[in-house]
Amino acid sequence: MIKADLGVAMAGRIRAAIAKSRHDRGLDEGTVREVLAAEIASVLEPVAEAFPLSGARPHVFLVVGVNGTGKTTTTAKMAHQFKRQGLRVMLAAADTFRAAAIDQLKVWGGRVGVEVVAKEVGSDPAGVAYEAFERARAEAADVLLIDTAGRLQNKSELMAELAKIVRVLKKLDATAPHGVILVLDATTGQNALNQVEIFKEIAGVTGIVVTKLDGTARGGILVAIAERFKLPINAIGIGEGLDDLKPFDAQDFARAIAGAKSENEAAA
Ligand code: GDP
Ligand code: MG
Repeated sequence: MIKADLGVAMAGRIRAAIAKSRHDRGLDEGTVREVLAAEIASVLEPVAEAFPLSGARPHVFLVVGVNGTGKTTTTAKMAHQFKRQGLRVMLAAADTFRAAAIDQLKVWGGRVGVEVVAKEVGSDPAGVAYEAFERARAEAADVLLIDTAGRLQNKSELMAELAKIVRVLKKLDATAPHGVILVLDATTGQNALNQVEIFKEIAGVTGIVVTKLDGTARGGILVAIAERFKLPINAIGIGEGLDDLKPFDAQDFARAIAGAKSENEAAA
């Protein structure tokens, strides 16, 4: 029941909590799951936090992560969410490595109904970011979301690329980027921990989105990440559609991982 993804420290605490409840109350499965859910929630609660928007306008988000984790999709979902909050949103296609990546963001921009700043394939990602920031300012956008590449095969190159993007943004606003969102794929398990480590170092992550929680992954990896890094988890991805970005609800999530009855079931 205790998934390997949860991590060693958490597993130890859970064992202790279960041993205590067994001693105090006698052991039945429902009780154990409740104890487990409470223990997991105590780790997740402090990191559950919606995307923070500073007073800066435009508020610039850099979206980073390994290729295939869901960066571009998450960027689109975020744009959709902010737009529905009545904010003026703009996108920047700073993954300029493949033409398909640029086109993909343009298609999403069309669906969401927001402008996408893009240049031709192979152009400097920092140039795209700079131009997009200028344009977002000129058009009084509230939020600028910058989609980036994540080719980890060449870490020093990626580091240089992201550092340059950050540098040029700071030329326009010393406080930018105001958020650096790391996108992680829940199905990658423990490897996600390495990715947090790497992108923290490369880009200074301010928040995390965990995608593909609609699949078989149960999300124990979030518990390990929360324990180890204490970084905010801003949202979760539960599908490929625009509405499939959900707030991270620590209580619900903990109960699901623990296999405890949902609040509704418990009340019934
Ligand atoms: P990127 O390379 O990081 O930009 O990743 P993409 O945004 O292109 O996504 C890679 C694949 O993952 C695509 O097929 C997406 O539709 C899919 N994807 C992204 N987020 C989710 C999610 O939350 N659930 C599921 N099932 N698929 C997702
Ligand atoms: Mg992409």
